[in-house]
Amino acid sequence: ATPTAIMVGSGLGAKRGILFKNATAIETSARIDTVVMDKTGTLTKGEPEVTDVVLGDVPGDIDRTRLLALAGAVERESEHPLARAVVRHADRASVPQLRATGFRNITGIGAVAEVDGHRVAVGNRRLLESEGIDAGDLGPRRDEIAAGGRTAIFVAVDGQAVGVIGIADAVRETSAAAVAALHEAGVHVVMLTGDNRATADRIAAELGIDTVIAEVLPEDKADQITRLQAEGRVVAMVGDGVNDSPSLVQADVGIAVGAGTDVAIEAADVVLMRSDPLDVPVALVIGRGTLHKMR
Ligand code: ADP
Ligand code: MG
Repeated sequence: ATPTAIMVGSGLGAKRGILFKNATAIETSARIDTVVMDKTGTLTKGEPEVTDVVLGDVPGDIDRTRLLALAGAVERESEHPLARAVVRHADRASVPQLRATGFRNITGIGAVAEVDGHRVAVGNRRLLESEGIDAGDLGPRRDEIAAGGRTAIFVAVDGQAVGVIGIADAVRETSAAAVAALHEAGVHVVMLTGDNRATADRIAAELGIDTVIAEVLPEDKADQITRLQAEGRVVAMVGDGVNDSPSLVQADVGIAVGAGTDVAIEAADVVLMRSDPLDVPVALVIGRGTLHKMR
């Protein structure tokens, strides 16, 4: 594209808070045929709230209050958005605050710590598997929550699954419109998430997204981009989190949501200051317009 076209494109973008970091970012945006979108914090608001607290059929002294106190103690040590939702919920319910020691975060899976003399694990199915814990009667309860598009996490105490916590993260108001606009522009849309398949499928259906890559570990996200590129696709990745930086870098165009982490913004070629998913198709259209002016 000509320098003038690039200037016009940057200016148009800047008006909407779409910041192209350089000329290549605008030019490559014109050629994108596939947009991969991170679910949490990109398609959804990234403000998860606890919606369900399910107690398993467990003997002993564990009731809802105890469950929330134990899970809350572990999650207080974590910076994960799901962990913050659990802590907020526990605090609102005024459950006793317990202290966790030996906290260990297991990226993309969950967290474990010692609380009140017990080993407490909070996380997804993979966490239970890695701890050799059977979900028991809580398995079907988890499936119900996931089928509703909510994220379900298990709480295990001393090697036994004792509860499931359901967490909902509302989709952004313009996510469905953004997907529709991309489809109209002939762009393929893919959802990429570490969340479980049932939850992801439900949200994708709500948004009109037909391709879902779920249960992806943070370190494997970039490989999924590489795989799409190997099929000959020109890929834009839209993300907000620390986990997303390698895939933002791997993509032909990395697009960071402005409300996201500094690391993601650093790694991206384009930053959406308004965190509006509709700005994704707008960025691609600006790119196409800029290229058009060259001819
Ligand atoms: P995303 O791709 O949606 O940003 P992550 O890769 O960060 O998600 O996490 C994937 C999954 O790992 C979560 O959906 C959750 O089931 C589990 N998980 C990770 N950290 C925690 C935690 N601190 N507490 C509970 N669950 C967790
Ligand atoms: Mg994320």
